[in-house]
Amino acid sequence: MSDPLPWERGPQPAPREPGLSVDLRRCIGCHACSIACKTAHELPLGEFRLRVRWLPRPGGNQLAFVPLFAESCDLGAAARAHGLAPECVRACPTEALRYGERAEEDSPLRRFEAAEQAQPFGGKAATHAAITYVGLEPWIPGAVGKGVPLDPSDPDPIYEQGGAS
Ligand code: SF4
Repeated sequence: MSDPLPWERGPQPAPREPGLSVDLRRCIGCHACSIACKTAHELPLGEFRLRVRWLPRPGGNQLAFVPLFAESCDLGAAARAHGLAPECVRACPTEALRYGERAEEDSPLRRFEAAEQAQPFGGKAATHAAITYVGLEPWIPGAVGKGVPLDPSDPDPIYEQGGAS
């Protein structure tokens, strides 16, 4: 029998040091994580702690989908208190978000990060410091403006950027 999917898992012991890794190879840009986060925290219109950026790839007409997390993200503290994974992780239909223990070197999360060469976002603080990325292409950090806050300079085709401050 295969492992249960993130939304099927019941309560688990909470990690001592929670961590999250985003597998960009699996992200389809569906925004389910962002909506789940926004709903759980009852954030007002236009405010996000997690925003999924659709970035035009250089020199082509394809997009890269890049979830970014605000520094105010608490990695699902309320859900973790009940032994559950953060809402974003449970909402993701492609298992692009890997959540788990960072404090132990042989935890599934640490093993996944090592095997898949996960890396920090780098450059500017466009995403939460406790989050790593798999499949992060070199041009992506430079294409992200302020990160989660709306930014008129962002080349994101799906969020309305005009009037953002
Ligand atoms: S829910 Fe998963 S696939 Fe959808 S945008 Fe978020 S990370 Fe990507």
